[in-house]
This record gives sequence, C-alpha cells and structure tokens, in this order.
Amino acid sequence: MAQGPYNDIVMDHFRNPRNMGEIEDSNGMAEAGNPVCGDVMRLYLKISDGKITDVRFKTFGCSAAIAASSMTTVLIKGKTIEEALLITNETVGEALGGLPPAKQHCSVLAEEAIRAAVEDYKNKCALHEDRS
Ligand SMILES: [Zn+2]
Repeated sequence: MAQGPYNDIVMDHFRNPRNMGEIEDSNGMAEAGNPVCGDVMRLYLKISDGKITDVRFKTFGCSAAIAASSMTTVLIKGKTIEEALLITNETVGEALGGLPPAKQHCSVLAEEAIRAAVEDYKNKCALHEDRS
C-alpha cells in the first residue's frame, strides 16, 4: 500500500536499465528531450538489413524517463525499422504496466527518439547509397 508512484515493472527498469550505454559504430542516433522534467534521452541504433540488431540508450532524467527508455530498447531490439516505428509512447507505457498520469510525457521522448534515430539512419543511407 505505502508505495511510490511507480509500479514494480517501472521500478525494475529504473533500477536495472536494459541496454544502457552507447554504440560506437551506431548508424542511427538521436536525442530527444522533454522540458517538463528536463529529461534528455539519447538513443543509439545499429541497423543492418532493415533490422535493429543493437540498441543502447543514455538518459538523464527522472525515473519514469529512464524506465521508459529501457523498455523502449527492449521493445525495438531485433525488430525491423517499420515495426519499431509502430511503437508509440502508449506502447511503452502499457509495456511498463502504466505510468502515473503526471509522468506520461516521460514516455513520449522514447517515441520521439525512435523516430528521430530512424530518420538519422535513413539520411545516412541516402548519403551512402547512390540509387540514381
Ligand atoms: Zn520525466
């Protein structure tokens, strides 16, 4: 009963974040921020053949943001780019068993980071591959 605002799944991901760190040779990277709590998330993707083979994150922010970032990496690892783009902040929130309403925005940066990192990857591909 005497619990904090977060459920066990959120606390688990906050205490033991999955896939935390950087990828040296990532081919898709993006940063997303949220001014409400000052959360900043950096997402690194390693994509090959349209599939996310590795993913890491670095997040500075509140517990909800760290848990959401961690869950995001679990959700998108091994997925295709198309599948990863279907993931929204609601998907992340649900996978975490729900975030307190006041912390909902902290999962939004995860969704933003996925989209921006995939965008970064596509831009890099466009530079490398000349399909004319
Ligand atoms: Zn936050």
